[in-house]
Amino acid sequence: MLEHAPVGMALFEAQTLRLLSANPSYQALFEPTWREGQAIGHGLRDLLPEAVQAEVIALFEHVIQTGAAQEAQAYRTFSPTGGVRYWNWTLSPLVEEEQVCLVLVTITKVTATVLAHQEAERMQAALTQTTDAVARERQRLADRETILLSLRQVSEPTVLAQSVLSALGGCFSPSMAALYSTHAEPGSLSLLGTHTPIRVSAEPALFPAPLSSGQHPDLLQAMQSSAPIVMKRAEGKDQTKAQEWWWSVPETQCVIALPLWEKRCEGVLVLALRTEEAANELLNTLGECAPHLAEALASACLHAELSNEKQRLHTILDQLPEGVLLVEARTSKISYANPAAAHLLGLRLLQLLGTPLNQSALLSPYGRSKLVQRSVFQWNFALIDALWGKRSSSQELFIPRPDGSEVTVLSSAAPIRLHHGLISEAVIVFQDITALKRLEQHKNEFFAMANHELRTPLTIILGYSELLQMSAPSDGASMQQYALNSITHECQHLLRLIGDLLDVSRLEQAQLEVQKQKHDVLMIVGNLVSTFMETTSTHKLSLRLQEIEPHEPLLGWVDLPRLEQIVSNLTTNAIKYSPGGGKVEIGVRPVRDGQGMAQEVMIWVKDEGIGIATSDLPYLFERFYRAKKIDRSISGFGIGLYLTKELVQAHGGRIWVESTKGEGSTFFVQLPLGEPQEAILARK
Ligand code: ADP
Repeated sequence: MLEHAPVGMALFEAQTLRLLSANPSYQALFEPTWREGQAIGHGLRDLLPEAVQAEVIALFEHVIQTGAAQEAQAYRTFSPTGGVRYWNWTLSPLVEEEQVCLVLVTITKVTATVLAHQEAERMQAALTQTTDAVARERQRLADRETILLSLRQVSEPTVLAQSVLSALGGCFSPSMAALYSTHAEPGSLSLLGTHTPIRVSAEPALFPAPLSSGQHPDLLQAMQSSAPIVMKRAEGKDQTKAQEWWWSVPETQCVIALPLWEKRCEGVLVLALRTEEAANELLNTLGECAPHLAEALASACLHAELSNEKQRLHTILDQLPEGVLLVEARTSKISYANPAAAHLLGLRLLQLLGTPLNQSALLSPYGRSKLVQRSVFQWNFALIDALWGKRSSSQELFIPRPDGSEVTVLSSAAPIRLHHGLISEAVIVFQDITALKRLEQHKNEFFAMANHELRTPLTIILGYSELLQMSAPSDGASMQQYALNSITHECQHLLRLIGDLLDVSRLEQAQLEVQKQKHDVLMIVGNLVSTFMETTSTHKLSLRLQEIEPHEPLLGWVDLPRLEQIVSNLTTNAIKYSPGGGKVEIGVRPVRDGQGMAQEVMIWVKDEGIGIATSDLPYLFERFYRAKKIDRSISGFGIGLYLTKELVQAHGGRIWVESTKGEGSTFFVQLPLGEPQEAILARK
């Protein structure tokens, strides 16, 4: 029966613990020494390895003494080859006359089960470990996310500090957290915010003023290093005064000072912790967040600096007597207006802010006078142009106010660009010139009237002097003749000057007009030169014709008296600014098209006089400009060239000069000869 049993079975004599019988499965236990029945008859001591003898014999004796069966689960044995085997044992007493005489040993090999169980346990342990690691990692990521999310509020450094510190408080429950910035003063730290759990009431005062070196060396050392500084409470050991301060924060065992570096150290984050162990885990997470914290801190500080700067700028602009308006490119709405702007436009400041660009000068220009409409459109376009990068300056505009009054302003507009060139805003600056304009108008009116009043007596004097010249006896004293000639000449000169002044005042009032008619330009210039030749004995005048015959007509649309005025002004100057005896050349050249038709005429006046310095050239055609170093005894108002330029431009032509100091000058005038557009339209 034992032989065929699937489990190992053996019978031991209770008295001697000798093996009486065993099936092959059991005998396999004793491989190889006791195989094939050789174990039968031997005692337990012989059969068992020494290491387990005492333990197994004790089990047998317990069964024999108590008569109660014993079990041993997953009993471990070693095979001769060193392998481990596991067995389940049962020792059952066989009792005869109340005495245990035999012990039946049943063994079941459970190696596979035990090994599988052990493997399962190992795997379970590994799984638990992995799950813990995943949970820790998840927590770390969650903490990281919480901290990074708290950086979204970057508007202001102290707001950012509160947001970050309370996120850190939620994640790590420190006994105290504080954030310092390096932005206050170079090389120092200033406190931006603190966080302490509510139950810690005895919070020591942190350092709100900027810290300089020596005050808190730990923090300043952290600021200079790029790695975090970890301070641990070392009881009984020497502590610096500064470190003692940290331990006065209740429940604190460890303090971390983490420098926040981006391109430079932006600040230091301080966390007081309740355990030293918490520091390692925390440093991992914080290490990853530090660059982001630094970046957010830098951007918040920059933002604060910018808004301070903006505030400062607005305070300055608010004090200006000129109106200043800023229009935001993104919205095309007014983003800033100073009180002067509101006052000039006749609106309240709050009314102006946020108003769309096209309503900044007036809600609707329609139904207003043409002048006002044009001004409002010019105003709007100046701002639109500025948003497209174009500047405009010194525009005179009439701005209507809601109360019906009008102001005249001188305005300039320009784009405001960010550092990378993008236009962020347009600015328009305008000043009230209403009073100035009124004054100017009075002046012009007076000027025109004075002109008229001066001209009348002068014309009479000139008339009489010419009469006297004509009626003077041919044999009259040469002195008398000379005096009459001089009176006539000077009167004519004075009349020309008064005429020029009148023209300038007309120009200022935009009343000067040219009336073009068909004339022979060559004849006009030729006649004028002849008159000059008759009256000028001091200089050698000549007419030079290029690419045209002397009697060939050069027909064009010009204003005859105005063309005479142009050539006359230039010739007078050429004579005036040349020493006596000098040559003056007046030239004419038609500018022809492909068919040989004269489309334009070029007229030049060349002298060999004092010339013009290069530094004077750009200003020559300005009103009242006279060359810096000319002899002030040469009379003049500095309006001749200004007027000449205006007349040339009114003809649609252009004027320029080539001159070298001391070597004479040549003034060129190029005029179109074609019929004016209005005349063509009128004829049609
Ligand atoms: P002005 O009454 O002074 O002559 P203009 O307007 O005619 O005024 O000329 C302006 C200035 O230009 C003069 O003051 C003089 O310095 C300079 N200028 C004009 N024409 C000449 C010239 N032909 N040669 C040298 N300088 C000249």
